[in-house]
Amino acid sequence: MITPLIKGLAITLRHFLNPLKIVTVQYPDEKCQISPRYRGLHEHLRDNNEVEKCVACGLCAKACPSDCIKINGIENEEGERKAEVYEIDMLRCIFCGYCEEACPVNAIHLSGAYELAMEDEGEKIFTKDKLLIPIKNK
Ligand code: SF4
Ligand code: SF4
Repeated sequence: MITPLIKGLAITLRHFLNPLKIVTVQYPDEKCQISPRYRGLHEHLRDNNEVEKCVACGLCAKACPSDCIKINGIENEEGERKAEVYEIDMLRCIFCGYCEEACPVNAIHLSGAYELAMEDEGEKIFTKDKLLIPIKNK
């Protein structure tokens, strides 16, 4: 009866006295190293000319099992199809990555960003402005 208790206390003491085995971090001052395979916040990518890659084909929205992507495509002056509206409802998203897999031009990528807490339900819609990565030389 007392042996398991002593064993348990010994384990606790061993971990207490061995600070090198700390597995927690002082979040938010320190951030955890996440796996390269982690699927977090989406980002919309740009090509080498800093033009957004998305051609508003809608395949990501079709592949999405949560039906949380809304797209409205238009043709610009050069006759290229672009997304006038691209929105993701982050409260419905299950971060499955199907949208990334479905994209024929590699325009969408699930990044390692995981700090998605929001204070208001109105913040759940991530528009293209929020998702599109900034121009590098800006
Ligand atoms: S990660 Fe999955 S659920 Fe989220 S938008 Fe993409 S396809 Fe939809
Ligand atoms: S992100 Fe990719 S799959 Fe989705 S609309 Fe744009 S080009 Fe098509």
